[in-house]
Amino acid sequence: MSVLQQTIKNPIHLAGVGLHAGCEVYATLLPAQENQGIVFRRTDLKPAVDLQIKPENIQEALLCTKLVQDGADVATIEHIMAALCAMQIDNITVELTAAEVPVMDGSAEPFVFAIRAAGIVVQSAKRRYLRIKKKVRVEEGDKFAEFLPHSGGLRLQLSIDFPHPVIQKTKQDISFDLTSIGFTNQISRARTFGAAKDLDQLHAKKLALGASLSNAVGLSDDGVLNPEGLRYPDEFVKHKLLDCIGDLYVAGAIIGLFRAHKTGHTLNNRLLRAVLADQEAYEWVE
Ligand SMILES: [Zn+2]
Repeated sequence: MSVLQQTIKNPIHLAGVGLHAGCEVYATLLPAQENQGIVFRRTDLKPAVDLQIKPENIQEALLCTKLVQDGADVATIEHIMAALCAMQIDNITVELTAAEVPVMDGSAEPFVFAIRAAGIVVQSAKRRYLRIKKKVRVEEGDKFAEFLPHSGGLRLQLSIDFPHPVIQKTKQDISFDLTSIGFTNQISRARTFGAAKDLDQLHAKKLALGASLSNAVGLSDDGVLNPEGLRYPDEFVKHKLLDCIGDLYVAGAIIGLFRAHKTGHTLNNRLLRAVLADQEAYEWVE
């Protein structure tokens, strides 16, 4: 296929709130040289610490995907990772002034907008794809995530099963062939969501301190609390799909069929590690 690597053309700044710590955080997206990959840089630490995106640097965290390296960590990377995946950005440095990516509006759309505004540059090195060669599956109770060989790019088939009455009234399964245009138009605006009554518990654990109706869909027992309603009729499953795209991009661009039921960040990362641990399960292609 021979596609070339890409970075952004100009630096771009974003300001927002950290979903979990609740503090203000600034992000600066910087162009990077070919073969660098995706690096998050904590500029609030002295000296600054660079954290490289790769599956072994991802740790289990409550409610988000956390990147950990050299004693430093960065939380909530999945939405910007989904945007970088969809926009086919291979090389970029994301400077942060806190231990968290700003949550923006709870979706990937502000990151897609920022990348577009920065401009995209085609580099000279070839893009590498991780091509799935055989089925690899991980399970946990009634949840599973698996990869199967697939001839096109990345296809995702996802189902969720939330017992919440509002979510149950929406479509809880989706099939999606990843493209930049498809992601931008159909998926990127789907926001994270949660039940308002769970928020007190989360706050007691010092989680979701920055959560509000401006960066999440809030659910009461029988309705959506946001005055504007849902952005898509099936916004919930679309957000989970967005999370999966971000989680999987930790291993780079993938050619394969991803199928999952009730999966989450932890299971997605276990799947990537299971693939990479089995040399017959994948190959790198250009
Ligand atoms: Zn999410």
